[in-house]
Amino acid sequence: MSSFYDPVIRHIAIEKLVTRTGSEGLERKYYRIRPARWYGGTVTADCVGCGLLCRFCWVSDAVMNRPHDVGKFYTPRKVAESLISLAKKCDLKLLRPSGGEPTIGKQHLLALLENLEGKGYHFILETNGILIAYDNDYAESLAKYNFIHVRVSLKGCSEEEFTLLTGAKPEGFLLQIKALKQLVDAKVSCHPSVMASFSSNMSLQSLIERIGQISPKLAEEIEIEELILYPHVIQRLRNYKLKYYTGYSPKKVPPEQI
Ligand code: SF4
Repeated sequence: MSSFYDPVIRHIAIEKLVTRTGSEGLERKYYRIRPARWYGGTVTADCVGCGLLCRFCWVSDAVMNRPHDVGKFYTPRKVAESLISLAKKCDLKLLRPSGGEPTIGKQHLLALLENLEGKGYHFILETNGILIAYDNDYAESLAKYNFIHVRVSLKGCSEEEFTLLTGAKPEGFLLQIKALKQLVDAKVSCHPSVMASFSSNMSLQSLIERIGQISPKLAEEIEIEELILYPHVIQRLRNYKLKYYTGYSPKKVPPEQI
């Protein structure tokens, strides 16, 4: 029997821990709302919970392994108000969820977008794409919001690398690719990024060709992600004996990666 976990089943299991039904709809756990330097400045709501266990993930052990103990439940309205209030204070126009997988709790995410619509902000949805591929209506639901852009973060360049980096079944990589196709088909603004610190050039090239079969434009737009070597990330990589080709110390991330 395979010792790898099923990424869809794990997302659904985590969803039960980090969402709950409240009087204003589905609430989701978050542990922080903060300004961040990425994309030239964003206001970021760090949600709790992800269905993958990436071995290079930057979140703390507590957030990754004990989602039931971390953060507090927010209504979609409260997250929207907190994001907008901080954006006004910091004079920023870009909002994003991070910290976990924001597509967990679909009704919460859609209600959050509903609360942000028409307020003059852009919204970056960074996702691993697993639930977008699993739920055939997800991409169509996102297509209603023209102020969003989806960044599908691929975990390596192939099925083998996906399993090496996440510990999940290799079929999960196909779901990541499928998510891109569903977003393109639904005409949602999107691009792929890839954690390429563990990949050879040959592997990267073969991914680019594979993405090109969905859309040549997507292949041109692939963003290369590289490791940020926070001390706890280095420790995790050591624990898994994972060798990487490239990575940056947190204070020396090149401007093009920010
Ligand atoms: S998909 Fe993102 S949030 Fe989830 S474990 Fe991987 S890097 Fe962390």
